[in-house]
Amino acid sequence: MIRHGAVEQFQQQFAQWLGAQHAFAFWKGRVAMYAILRATGVGKGDEVILPGYTCVMDVNPIKYLGARPIYVDIDPVTYNLDVNLLEWQISPRTKVIIAQHTYGYPCRMDRLCEIAQRHNVPVVEDCCLAVGSSFAGRRCGTFGLAAYWSFQWNKPFTTGIGGMATTNDAELAGRIGQLCQHELIAPSAKEAAMLALQRAVHRAVIFPHTVSLMTLLFRYLARKGLVIGSSSTSEFEPRMAADFFKGMSPGQAKAGLRGLRRLEGNIAHRRRIARLYDQWLSQAGLEPAKIPLEMDPVLVRYPVRVADKAGILAAAPSHGVEIGSWFECPLHPAQTPLELYDYTPRSCPVAEQAAYQVVNLPTHPRTTQRAARRAFEFVRPVIQR
Ligand SMILES: *Cc1c(COP(=O)(O)O)cnc(C)c1O
Repeated sequence: MIRHGAVEQFQQQFAQWLGAQHAFAFWKGRVAMYAILRATGVGKGDEVILPGYTCVMDVNPIKYLGARPIYVDIDPVTYNLDVNLLEWQISPRTKVIIAQHTYGYPCRMDRLCEIAQRHNVPVVEDCCLAVGSSFAGRRCGTFGLAAYWSFQWNKPFTTGIGGMATTNDAELAGRIGQLCQHELIAPSAKEAAMLALQRAVHRAVIFPHTVSLMTLLFRYLARKGLVIGSSSTSEFEPRMAADFFKGMSPGQAKAGLRGLRRLEGNIAHRRRIARLYDQWLSQAGLEPAKIPLEMDPVLVRYPVRVADKAGILAAAPSHGVEIGSWFECPLHPAQTPLELYDYTPRSCPVAEQAAYQVVNLPTHPRTTQRAARRAFEFVRPVIQR
């Protein structure tokens, strides 16, 4: 695949921002994950450990490679893999442990890495929701052998869709580079143009009071094939489509460069809005989540547990409030055929309970204090502690 200057530049600047040696841009975050797993040598009969509270798109690359996902239940406060349960799931076949920093809360990287090291298993960080978060003063994405990132619409900053793989390991970077050189396909001109149009429309019409309705419209158009959806129908089954391993278009990279330039403001805004939610919870006599001191999260969404999640989600669009729902089941979305993904119902009870109760409130740069307040007031009567 021919590399365009903007893509090179985005890779370089992203690596520089993170403090990593190598970065590789892709069409989506899941493609970056696939590249890392393949370069790590994950194959038939291997096992990959990940939290049982994730998105099915995070499980697909494991299945594509013929490996088996092993799910670990989560910690109820940070929604991250419960490190106390991790060691039980490690076997001689364990090839990689995925540390997914859910909502932007960092995993307990000290204990997680210590356990992984003791068993000589590499850690790969899923930073798709955790741009700027840190643990014990160190940025998420710099602990493991490699990390992957997503720039999809709802992620910390967006290129429409898009993803990145980062690593400090020269050998792994060499192998990812080889894969890209030999197998990566370029997005078609039509795909790149459609996505560019969607980015322009997104900037023009997505505001806190419109986002719920626009999301419904977007999903409808994506089903009709009129826009590029975040996932195609072939991605809801564990078989890799022929055009899966795709690179990033120059337009995405340019959007990414703009996102990087605004990143500090974006992060500061997310911190400010999250602090407001903390305050409002306290004022309402509801305690905000008690996050361990070493964790310094930048939240992409602010999770709260509610009674009647279905009712809240159904009523939100007509009230013009932006309430999100990650994750709707252990392997989001709700219609994922769990048996095809080796998930045994009730094997991660804490995650299942969270999926049943948690909705999330916006923190993104377009969230005004007023919109945040309205979203908070909308859920406040049914918040559970
Ligand atoms: C969005 C997301 C992904 C996949 O990213 P895409 O760019 O949509 O492929 C993976 N893991 C997590 C936790 C995500 O939120």
